[in-house]
Amino acid sequence: MMQGKLMQSLQTLFKFLQYCSPIIHKQRSVLTASFLALFAEVALQILQPWPLKFVIDRIVFSKGLEGQEIFQFIGSLDTTTLLIVSSVALVAIVGLKALAIYSSTIGFAIVGNRILTEVRNLLFRHVQYLSLSFHTKSRSGDLLLRVMNDVNMLKEVSVTAFLPLLGSILTLMGMFAVMFWLNWELALIASLVIPLFFYSAVKKSSKIQDFARKQRKQEGVMAATAAESIGGIQDVQALSLSNIFLNSFYNQNDKTLREEVKVKKLEAGMERTVDVLIAIATAIVLLYGSTLVLRNELTPGEMIVFLAYLGTAFRPLRNFAKYSGRIAKASAACERVLEVLETKPDVYDLPGAVDAPVYRGEVRFEKVKFAYDPGLVVLDNINLKVMPGQRVSIIGPSGNGKSTLVSLILRLYDCSEGHVMIDGKDIREYTLASHRGQVSVVLQDNVLFAVSVKDNIAYGAPDATQEEIESAARLANAHQFIMALPDGYDTILGERAVTLSKGQRQRIAIARAAIRKSRILILDEPTTGLDKENENAVIEAMDRLARECTTFLITHNLQHASRSDLILYLERGKIIEQGTHGELMNANGRYASLYNANPPLREYK
Ligand code: ADP
Repeated sequence: MMQGKLMQSLQTLFKFLQYCSPIIHKQRSVLTASFLALFAEVALQILQPWPLKFVIDRIVFSKGLEGQEIFQFIGSLDTTTLLIVSSVALVAIVGLKALAIYSSTIGFAIVGNRILTEVRNLLFRHVQYLSLSFHTKSRSGDLLLRVMNDVNMLKEVSVTAFLPLLGSILTLMGMFAVMFWLNWELALIASLVIPLFFYSAVKKSSKIQDFARKQRKQEGVMAATAAESIGGIQDVQALSLSNIFLNSFYNQNDKTLREEVKVKKLEAGMERTVDVLIAIATAIVLLYGSTLVLRNELTPGEMIVFLAYLGTAFRPLRNFAKYSGRIAKASAACERVLEVLETKPDVYDLPGAVDAPVYRGEVRFEKVKFAYDPGLVVLDNINLKVMPGQRVSIIGPSGNGKSTLVSLILRLYDCSEGHVMIDGKDIREYTLASHRGQVSVVLQDNVLFAVSVKDNIAYGAPDATQEEIESAARLANAHQFIMALPDGYDTILGERAVTLSKGQRQRIAIARAAIRKSRILILDEPTTGLDKENENAVIEAMDRLARECTTFLITHNLQHASRSDLILYLERGKIIEQGTHGELMNANGRYASLYNANPPLREYK
């Protein structure tokens, strides 16, 4: 059962390797060279005590050497030559071994870095394309940790644990093969401690693996907490939530520390156990080996080889627990990376999807049903036809599906039943990028990036010229305040654009939408929370922007709604009223009573 955990970790790593096999394949030449260097290192390690053996045997026997035929040539050398050859060989072996270690270390580091760099790119690309349904359920800090830290961990572990462990095991096997060849009885006795070693190693490493996994998950939670509190620092400070976040972070940090200490204790214990085991094996070999030497069944040199092997073969295994802990951490990291990589986007290009032609802007919903979670219907049997250039206002109480309806036009989600159609074609027939590229959006709160104002606007259309950017900004009523910024259009905005007011941010978002010149425009409560002056500026900008487009405006402001060509009143996922202001007032339904209860102020002027 206990080996099970290490096997499980190795299996996860193996699965990951399969996942990256095309990337690994590209590195095959450096990888082969590194493995050859590793094998050379193991072979040279095995050879290292041999010059000493020949010298000792020659000194003890003072003349030629009996024993295996393979050594007859060495036996025939005179003592001085033998001493010189052995000394040179010793230096050569150690020198070559150093070269092999150097080459394998560098080689594997290069391969590891190259592979993991590509894996990180792959992962980040995948995260970018994953559907909103995934992102709304995952914590961004944890995701960030997966892209940055977990990938790093994989790289580090493959280079600092997996390969040394492989090297140690190969060396151990090679040395025992030679020991059995020299004297199988003594080798058998020396190998008696191996089961003891494995018993203790497997027991400890299984515990270490548990801790390592927990720790990795814990770090994910910590990163998520930190990211959330930093991301929402304004609210955290305004609502005096700092202490709550701090306490939760301290607790999590503390737990990680406690686990780390437990791991360190186990690792240190493991090292000491191996030291004792090496001493026991050495004592046995000394005791039994000496009797064999006295009986002339073993040369003193061979006994030296045995003793040297015991030291070198077992010592790297002291780190077995450390390595297996690291491998467990890597496998936990691996699982977290695989979990993301294996998540398939819900919304993707269907086979045979083509690039969308330039839209005219007719939008139709046919018997559209949608649920975020199976069973909880959010939109039910939506039928709607909007002609190119029409302005549609969507109103209704909160939480009744207004944003969901417009997100279906953007294809942030695919409807569960029915069709969302543009210019008579289901939008799923088009590639996502070509479709979304033709729909502009201004939300209630728009993210501006930490780049220049110019670039923030140009994100809507990467090829835009300075003139186009400026004319979009003018249309958005933003040109004036941009010119008043320290570097005008080149002013770099602070992270999350804290240096701009909300109204200014909205106007930059409108400029960003304007520059795309798309025929479909979605405005999701863009004036919420603005003061009158800013609101007017934004409305004016929106009106200009909407002139050429089919526009969907979600609003609570009935004055805006009343001016549109079509008003939709949405309740519990159904359109319960639709028509122009006049039609809905005549129908005397929900809209009319809402309008009558809160007549727009301007009517009284
Ligand atoms: P509105 O825009 O009218 O306020 P929404 O379209 O945002 O309403 O939400 C409609 C319903 O769908 C609400 O009950 C809301 O809780 C739910 N909902 C919205 N977004 C998600 C989501 N990402 N996952 C699950 N449920 C959601």
